[in-house]
Amino acid sequence: MNIDLEIFSPVHQIKDKLFDEQDLKVFIKRDDLIHPIISGNKWRKLKYLLKKAQAQNKTHLVTFGGAYSNHLLATAAAAAKFGFKSTGIVRGETIENDTLFLCRLHGMNLIFAARESYRDKPALFDKYFTNNDEAFFIAEGGTSPEAAKGCSELIDELTETYDHIFCACGTGTMAAGIINGLQNNSSLARLHAIPVLKNGGFIADEINKLLTSPANYQLHTDYHFGGYGKVNAELIAFIKRFIATTGILIDPVYTGKMFYAIYDLAAKKHFNPGSRILAIHSGGIWGLLGMKDKF
Ligand SMILES: *Cc1c(COP(=O)(O)O)cnc(C)c1O
Repeated sequence: MNIDLEIFSPVHQIKDKLFDEQDLKVFIKRDDLIHPIISGNKWRKLKYLLKKAQAQNKTHLVTFGGAYSNHLLATAAAAAKFGFKSTGIVRGETIENDTLFLCRLHGMNLIFAARESYRDKPALFDKYFTNNDEAFFIAEGGTSPEAAKGCSELIDELTETYDHIFCACGTGTMAAGIINGLQNNSSLARLHAIPVLKNGGFIADEINKLLTSPANYQLHTDYHFGGYGKVNAELIAFIKRFIATTGILIDPVYTGKMFYAIYDLAAKKHFNPGSRILAIHSGGIWGLLGMKDKF
């Protein structure tokens, strides 16, 4: 089977009084529209991994994530679509939630691993899949050079130029891929990465490991709202207003924090008048399901 999706990821402009006042043009690349479940950067990160699995005649994808992981869900759906079996090794005690329900619905077998044992993923893989020739190991979040390569392709799709490109970042793989893509295309756009975890400065090391050549970019480490999956009333109010005024769903874990950063930096006159800004909507709106009680 040919492992590919027809990429539908248009660029739309977002209108806001703030952007008009500052003479900014803000656009959004709709990677969230690539697929309802295998959305955003998760498809881009999986694409070359699935092709590699196929080339090695592996038929069973094994990967790792938290109980609300977009990566687990995307892997489950991609496995179903492209004819793989899938196992998700889930961090923590056995629980049930909407994300895991959707994983199971796509045929994923779930194994729960207490936090201690979860740390050593190769050991977990060996424990359950020693001598299993079908099994293909995919790192948590899909982090790999293949994943960065997949993400770099989103830059190849752009038909206009931008001064600034923004993305949310967890492991930094997408950010690295985008930077590589900008270099491949000799683009002068500057990448701004918004770590969604606390003390996100370490992500620079993770990004740099995946760069095909050294490059400048900017990390904004002050938009984590207390850490991964943490929110406050201001962020939630921002997300509600954004959704209600644009018709575009964003989530509190990733894209909500990135858009908050863009609006905040604009309000602080961080951008030169006339700047063109592109925000990557990296998908992940199912993350909203795990945060209903925050709204
Ligand atoms: C996983 C994810 C990210 C983070 O991507 P990294 O490559 O790990 O930095 C960003 N946005 C969304 C919606 C995600 O699901």
